[in-house]
Amino acid sequence: RYTDSKMVCITGSNGKTTTTMLTYHILHKAGIDVGLAGNVGRSLALQVAREPHKVYVIELSSFQLENMYQFKANIAVILNITPDHLDRYDYKMQNYVNAKFRIIRNQTTADALIYWKDDPVISEQLHHIHTDARMLPFTDNSFEPFPGFEGAYLDTFGKIVFDTRKGEMEIPTQELSLKGKHNLYNSMAAGLSACLLNIRREDIRRALEDFEGVEHRLEYTATKHGAVYINDSKATNVNSCWYALESMPDTKSTVLILGGKDKGNDYTEIESLVSRKVKAIVCMGKDNSKLLDFFTGKVPRIFNTHSMQEAVDKCVETARKGDTVLLSPCCASFDLFSSYEDRGRQFKDTVNAIKDN
Ligand code: ADP
Repeated sequence: RYTDSKMVCITGSNGKTTTTMLTYHILHKAGIDVGLAGNVGRSLALQVAREPHKVYVIELSSFQLENMYQFKANIAVILNITPDHLDRYDYKMQNYVNAKFRIIRNQTTADALIYWKDDPVISEQLHHIHTDARMLPFTDNSFEPFPGFEGAYLDTFGKIVFDTRKGEMEIPTQELSLKGKHNLYNSMAAGLSACLLNIRREDIRRALEDFEGVEHRLEYTATKHGAVYINDSKATNVNSCWYALESMPDTKSTVLILGGKDKGNDYTEIESLVSRKVKAIVCMGKDNSKLLDFFTGKVPRIFNTHSMQEAVDKCVETARKGDTVLLSPCCASFDLFSSYEDRGRQFKDTVNAIKDN
């Protein structure tokens, strides 16, 4: 009610914070008067009242979207929808999907919806709803753009093509600063938002190349005894761990730290990636019985630990030169830590304290 600023609103089960920060980074670097708000930790209302900006990039959780009535996203982004927080939605996935889709409420032909084309849940929902918004899908599958197409896709040379009414822009995937398939999607969504806000191609390209990433999301921590340690503490569900594993090398060279407060996880989703890529699992939690039951016999080695120090000690014992130690726990942190940030920081401190010889 109190602002006419442009609202870029980002939701999804995973990747919200990364995409929000990346979009903000592109706009900020391009000299736009932009505010960062929402679930990422800063109040939109307070900024509108005290330090108004022309554009806001807003991370929206399903919890926040539940209370969206009059508000309108000029650009709405739905990254993906996979089961999460079902305890809040009567264990009915459709209730969760409906909450996410509230992001397109009130959108008109002047507004845009950016979404992941290959997400089965999003595609199904789009069959059942009507929206007047401009539709801009993104995909990494081979795709022949048809006349009038707007969106982002990978061409046969491994370049992302951003295609909007204003024209085309390309960027080779290897030049993106964020690695991994999931970050390709996040980069596509952020890049498309920037294209719609008429940011110069050169500015978008440069910002996608120099973004430094977000703490606790596939964050490089240190190399110890030739093994690389990565902090992905924010992977609090199975799907986000799937993407972390997906970006690991295709050899059995990953030591994976799993565990914490289980939110009703089904580990079959990561089973085949684990058997292909993981040489050892270090379970770290108050009660690891579910993980031990599921993974024993499916990986060469599995350990039962109950603190960060114990877990990292096992990693040091197991990881060899060229290996990767990945903290991507699939679970909330509240059994041993106060938050995922606390867990990530303790991981980094413990890893940095590993003696070099
Ligand atoms: P959110 O804010 O939605 O929780 P984050 O950007 O904080 O998302 O990332 C959370 C976790 O999800 C990270 O561990 C990251 O590796 C993983 N992730 C990030 N982007 C995606 C994506 N597009 N799809 C699936 N997993 C993702």
